[in-house]
Amino acid sequence: MTDAAVAVTERAVDEFATDYLSSIGATIHKDGRRWTVSLPDEATTELSLDNTVVHIVADAEEADDDAVPLAPGSDLFERLVDDAAKRTPQGAITLTGDDIEVDTPDWAASDSVEVTDTQFVPYYDRKALCVLFHIGIETVSEYQRELLRAVAVDLADHEPRPRLAETFLDLSERDGLPLSETSPTPKTGDLTETVDVCREMVETAISPDVQDIRNKATRAAAAEIEEQRRYLQQRRDELEGGVQRLEDRVSELSATIDSASGRAERLEGLRKRKEVRNELTELQNELEEVRDDLDRDLPEKQAAIRDRHALTVRIRPVTATLVEYERGDVNISVRNSHHSTTLTCDYAVGIGVLNQLNCEQCGTALNARNPIALSDTMYIGGRCCDEIN
Ligand SMILES: [Zn+2]
Repeated sequence: MTDAAVAVTERAVDEFATDYLSSIGATIHKDGRRWTVSLPDEATTELSLDNTVVHIVADAEEADDDAVPLAPGSDLFERLVDDAAKRTPQGAITLTGDDIEVDTPDWAASDSVEVTDTQFVPYYDRKALCVLFHIGIETVSEYQRELLRAVAVDLADHEPRPRLAETFLDLSERDGLPLSETSPTPKTGDLTETVDVCREMVETAISPDVQDIRNKATRAAAAEIEEQRRYLQQRRDELEGGVQRLEDRVSELSATIDSASGRAERLEGLRKRKEVRNELTELQNELEEVRDDLDRDLPEKQAAIRDRHALTVRIRPVTATLVEYERGDVNISVRNSHHSTTLTCDYAVGIGVLNQLNCEQCGTALNARNPIALSDTMYIGGRCCDEIN
């Protein structure tokens, strides 16, 4: 799984909301970051927006008082994602060589040769489904992470197409891909099954992150529990000391009372002892509570702390787009001051060159670190076989 994920930033919220609201027939009048949004009566959605003023902000707190905040994690954004996840609107796009510039392979970026021409020759079309998922990883106590991740699988064999997912995200960031472009969509049955395949891919892809956050949350919970236990133990020790001191004081006063020579001295002793006994009772009660907390209540409190740190991972498919892309050959012409040649590679629009090219002299793979060089008779690796290096 590659990097077909974007953090849910203000910009991502803007793009997603524009696309999604348009796909369900909303009218959006944009006045800078303030939008006035209305949904037609016939729109199949649980959202209700009627000349609603929405303010696009990075943080819901920053929104104008008279507007509904639309921000990462804001109520309205959550409702949009929920709504989209229920419907998973289906769109379709076609990627052709005319739309997208040929993606030159990394081995062509070489100091010793110059790319003089690239020609794409399409032979046939392939279909993939690209599903955009909203992923929220959160605990009750604090928000953790929110991102949008695109996953693409070939419709025929369900093989992942990670580069296509990246292209899809790049395109939607750049152009605001319409979600509801009318094109043939796959049968619903096929789609559900494919979306499930995509969901499994997302689950696998994010599981290291989830584990990482879970470990952090577990450590945070353990630290909080330990802190609370220490506090209670310290309080118990203080109270035990206090109780001991007061008990000693009561004994001293009793001795004073017994040996009192006059009535006034005796009454004064009795009054003081009563005062100290009251204080002693208060401390003993508190000590008992703290001991109870340690023995009995702490396990309950620990469970509550653990609950507060428990993770919820929500993965919601928000759009599904059928991507039809062209496959064929790309002819890449390169030259240096003495030689030139044209290489033919398998190519898919939106994915790039599909086959690995190797040095014709020694068989080492060509890549960014071993870019192409030309000898008298063949193409070779700049690092493995070019004598100049
Ligand atoms: Zn070589």
